[in-house]
Parts: sequence; structure tokens; C-alpha cells
Amino acid sequence: MGTAVQRPIWLFVAGAVGAITIAIASLLVEEVFNQGWASTRIWNYVCWLALSLLFWSIAAGWRLFLSKAAGTLYYVRMMPTAARNWHIDAQEAARRRFLGSVQVVHSIDLAAESGVIDLREDVSEVGSKLQDLFNSDDDKTGFMLVPDLLAPVAVALGYRLNLPPGTMFYDLGDSGKTGTSIDSWALEDGPNRNEPQPRMRTTVGPGTCGIHIHASFTAIPDYKQISRPVRESRELGIWQNVDDNDWQAKQRTDVRVGVRGEETHPASAARAWAQVIRSALHDGNGEPVLLTARVPKTVSLAMGYLLAPAHTRAAMAKSEDPGCGVEGCRQDSCRNPWKYLVPLNYNPGTNGWDEMWLLREQRDPRELLALLGTRP
Ligand SMILES: [Zn+2]
Repeated sequence: MGTAVQRPIWLFVAGAVGAITIAIASLLVEEVFNQGWASTRIWNYVCWLALSLLFWSIAAGWRLFLSKAAGTLYYVRMMPTAARNWHIDAQEAARRRFLGSVQVVHSIDLAAESGVIDLREDVSEVGSKLQDLFNSDDDKTGFMLVPDLLAPVAVALGYRLNLPPGTMFYDLGDSGKTGTSIDSWALEDGPNRNEPQPRMRTTVGPGTCGIHIHASFTAIPDYKQISRPVRESRELGIWQNVDDNDWQAKQRTDVRVGVRGEETHPASAARAWAQVIRSALHDGNGEPVLLTARVPKTVSLAMGYLLAPAHTRAAMAKSEDPGCGVEGCRQDSCRNPWKYLVPLNYNPGTNGWDEMWLLREQRDPRELLALLGTRP
């Protein structure tokens, strides 16, 4: 039975059992007043009272669980107004499962002005709006985030948000193209799974400075190379036969990110990706770090969240590691990651990558890209 049907039934059951419990309690009080404590019927009433209290708490607890499992759905879309919505069916399916749904729809302009797409105002506005909505929502019920965002925008928005514990991510998929099978998941899911681990492949580039990171967690292994010269490229994905010595020369597998047993869990993919970025920022120590990605939307959003030094897990809160994995590291690139990041957005029109300026704390991408140069 769907939760939408179960919820009112259990609300009624909990209410009815509550009324019966109160009736038994009043009979007990009356018996004590009339017959005194010596009456033999008292213990009968006490037994019935205990039984109905037990059943009442079970019914009320189950009702609470149902509303927690299906709280509010937040649909966030930041796309150009003219962009088609590929996810109407998936959106409808998600909405039916929830108590209520909130839509934050914001149209963006992807035209570059003097060489850069500036969405700082847009990300800030949507981030604040979402945070206000979270704060005014009942945090006893669940939260589900459904992003329809470009990968760089999702990363920036995730970095800004403060997600309540247990927040679920719902992936709309990629209109069937990459065959993601994610559905819904939480960052707390999936530790200790026996799953294919994401791995990184490093290649030396023609540049003098800068590190490029490409994350690939879909069934499409190929991507358009960036035109900027960097000194090193790091490619994160899931590879075939990593036990072979020459695994780096091989193709990525079509192993997908997903919640099924044989797939790499989205939470693991997001963590691995955030780790690769943080260690590149540490190694670069002030060099620009260019980001490209072909990943499910929820993974981008969650990775952005994990990238923020403020969102360190409780287990790490006491350590002096700013997130790069080095205890007591004081490098500015580790303490202020966005100052050195240049996220790139794939432009199908030009078959190239466009630089994006997304957060107030991000340095002007043009300044960072000016540091790149080719080796003589
Ligand atoms: Zn560091």
C-alpha cells in the first residue's frame, strides 16, 4: 500500500487507540475513587491500560515514520528559459510520493559576457531561497532534493547549502541517454558496500601550471578535451580490470553509479570526486584547478556540499585537516577551495567548454586562466 493511502489510515488508528486509552485510564481512576486500592478489578484495568498505551505508541511512531519517509520534495531547476524540460514524467513520479512539494525555478542566461558566464547572483539567490524554505519546513519530516541543474551550477549550489541530516537526493536521470538507475539516496547510505571503486588516471599535459580534473560517472566514456593547456590532467571514473598492470590504458567500464548492489553508490562517487578535487587543490597550492564532469545531477550537488570545509563530518570535526587530507595544512587553496576552482560547462552548440563564475568567493576565472601557459 502506498504511503499516501497509509498515512490517513494510521492517523485515524493512532487517534482511535488514543481515545480508548484515555477511556480505560478514566475507568481506572473511577474504580480507585469508588472501591479504594483494595479492589481486585484495578489490576485488570492496569493491564488493559498498559496494553493500549503500547499499541498507541506503536501506531503514533509508525505514523511519524511514514511522514519522515515522505516529507517535502524540493524541485530546483536553474536552466535557460528556452531549455526543454526532459524530466516531466520523472518529476511527476517523484511528486506523488511526497506530502508536499516546493518548486524553485529560476531561469539563467548562458550568454558569456567578456569571456565568462557570470551566474553569481543567480546561485546566491536560489541558495538563499532554498535555505529559507528548509528553515521554515518541519524538520521532523524528511527532505528530498530533486535537482535539474547544470553540473557546475549544482556543485556551486551544493557548496552553499546547509542540508539537514538524512536529506535524500532524487535523480531525474539523463532523459534515458546515460541510463542512470539512481532514484533516491542519502549521503549516509552505502558505506562498506562491496562495489567497484572509482579510480583516478593521471596524464601530463603541455602546460606549465594548472590541474584539470574530469569526473565521469555515466555510461558515456568519451568527452571533449579542454582546449586550455594544463600541466596535469586527472581523470576520475570506474575502470575495467584494475588488477591488470596496464589498466590505465583501458576503457572505462559501463559500470554505472546507482543504488543497486553491483553499482558504485552515488555517495561513494561524490566522496571520491570531492577527495580528488581537494587533493589537487593541495598539490596545486594556488594553481588553478579546472573542473569538467559528466555525472548524474544529484552526485554534482552532493559533491559540492562535501567540498565545503564547513560540512566536515562529526568524526573529523576535531582534526586540523581542512579537507585536503593533510593534518594542520594552512595552505590558502585548502582553506578557501573556491578561490582556485574554475568550473567548466559543456556547450553542445560549440562542442566546447565554457568557464563559469558561480560564487562570490570564487576568483574571476579570467584571472586564473591567465596564469596558464604552454611549456616552451
Ligand atoms: Zn592542504
